[in-house]
Amino acid sequence: MTQLFSKINQLHEFLASRQALSLTATGLIPTMGALHQGHLSLIQRSLAQDQTTIVSIFVNPIQFAPGEDFERYPRQLEQDLALCQQAGVDAVFAPDAQEIFGENWVDSSQKTLIHPPAAITEVLCGRSRPGHFVGVATLVTKLLNIVQPQHAYFGQKDAQQVAVIKSLVKDLNLPVEIISCPIARDKQGLALSSRNQHLTEAQRIVAPQIFASLQAAQSVFINDQKDSDCLCQIVINYLANLPELKLDYLQVVDPHTMQSISSIAHSGLLAIAVYLGKIRLIDNILLTNQI
Ligand code: AMP
Repeated sequence: MTQLFSKINQLHEFLASRQALSLTATGLIPTMGALHQGHLSLIQRSLAQDQTTIVSIFVNPIQFAPGEDFERYPRQLEQDLALCQQAGVDAVFAPDAQEIFGENWVDSSQKTLIHPPAAITEVLCGRSRPGHFVGVATLVTKLLNIVQPQHAYFGQKDAQQVAVIKSLVKDLNLPVEIISCPIARDKQGLALSSRNQHLTEAQRIVAPQIFASLQAAQSVFINDQKDSDCLCQIVINYLANLPELKLDYLQVVDPHTMQSISSIAHSGLLAIAVYLGKIRLIDNILLTNQI
């Protein structure tokens, strides 16, 4: 039976009861809900590895800038709970903003915030969404402190987020192992995302072309094209016939540091963000040279 907690002290009581049973290995999967198979793949990893699996569901207001889709973000707690129950999740932690950030949480000048290194956050999604990673890093630090898991699971779909969190854990000596999980896709190749719910039928037909464009670059890469500009040009040419897709960014970066690289010596992450109507979709592909 999956337990639902909205309060930190209830969650702590639950965790203490698990400790009393010597069930000490805890895994945390931080999410914003509207759960899908991508989230489920992270949950499965924890269920296989940990004695207690906790899923947090919280649409984090401080990682959205004004004008972004915070209000429109899908919220479906009952459905999410049913999915967690079916999967065998031990507990869902679904607090409100006040529980997490306290009174006056809207006024961030009153709060301690975690600022990840500018080098990682001022590129890709961080450039398009100023302040986003401060919000993510602050919330994740709080969740790690609240739950104190041995393992925390994140999806490679948000590759920059993984890099931010790994550097946060290293720089602040947080006692947790960050486990990065592969991107789950639908049959057409579209990376699963809670935001996909907002796509119209026509947009759903176009959206898989994002991954197809990355694969086009991958096949050229395999045929010995290692130059980043050339690889990006393949993607641009591929998408040129699809005016519905408006490029936000497209870049080849070092997969660990997120710094731009001009050619791929060992491995490079080809990362993309596009707007399809009002919906912003991200994807990436790891390009690795055989050793
Ligand atoms: P979100 O609820 O979108 O904040 O995502 C919660 C976690 O699930 C993050 O670590 C995401 O990277 C991960 N995630 C979301 N979509 C996918 C996907 N398609 N494949 C793998 N992980 C994902």
